[in-house]
Amino acid sequence: MRGKRILILGGTGEARELAAQLLEAGFDPVTSLAGVTASPRWPVGEIRTGGFGGVGGLCTYIESEGIASIVDATHPFAAQISRHGFEAATRCGIPYLRLERPAWRPEAGDHWTEVHNVAEAAAALPKGARPLVTIGRKDIAAFFARGDLSGVARMIEEPTCAVPEGWIVLRERPPFTLEREFNLLMAHGVTHLVSKNAGGEDTRAKLIAAREKNIPVIMIERPAKPVARIAIAARDVITALGDLLSA
Ligand code: NAP
Repeated sequence: MRGKRILILGGTGEARELAAQLLEAGFDPVTSLAGVTASPRWPVGEIRTGGFGGVGGLCTYIESEGIASIVDATHPFAAQISRHGFEAATRCGIPYLRLERPAWRPEAGDHWTEVHNVAEAAAALPKGARPLVTIGRKDIAAFFARGDLSGVARMIEEPTCAVPEGWIVLRERPPFTLEREFNLLMAHGVTHLVSKNAGGEDTRAKLIAAREKNIPVIMIERPAKPVARIAIAARDVITALGDLLSA
């Protein structure tokens, strides 16, 4: 196992943690980042940046770099790269496994409306609502296009579309504290929270704040990802790689 080259599909905190643990366990990890964040938090170990050019490009990379396994540690909503990772691993005959945080579940006192996608989330808001929208910049246009809404859109990077009057864009990076989330909801008169079901701890405080303040949540369900072996912690990935690569 020692020295085996592992391709981590990254872009998450879990991927950074995994790179550190794989290095420590004697593997040779290389983390792949999409290159969409201007100043990402860099993982330890080797890094490559930018798309592969689809499944074919990823296969070429796997073969030229002598990759022994793919560990997909991308965000639960990054569906295309997961599909590509799975297909390329299958085509190249190497293991594919996923490191994935469990989804959030509604708790007592929550008022969730669960929807399948961003378009449904935008449509689910009542006329004149003032939401806090925490879905990143890629899909924010669906909310801006609803002329009757105003609110707060939180994201890491600047949106690529124009920001309509009545909207505030907050460029912030998690983690967020409960106090911060309470203040945000109150300061902006937020009536609804719109969230992807990202799971994890870094952005969970907004759900607690919404529950305490009786604010309804529009929760976007995760997209389907390939059926594969799933680990929820870096140490489980190391155990799984041990099994898969010694077989
Ligand atoms: P996506 O829609 O699944 O992927 C779009 C394309 O971007 C892929 O086909 C691939 O291009 C390239 N790509 C994506 N992730 C890559 C990676 N780790 N390494 C190399 N190429 C990658 O992805 P997305 O939703 O735009 O997310 C992009 C990145 O941001 C991911 O790494 C993800 O972990 C991170 N992220 C996403 C979200 C979210 O809500 N979607 C939130 C936080 C972080 P080619 O086809 O050319 O290979």
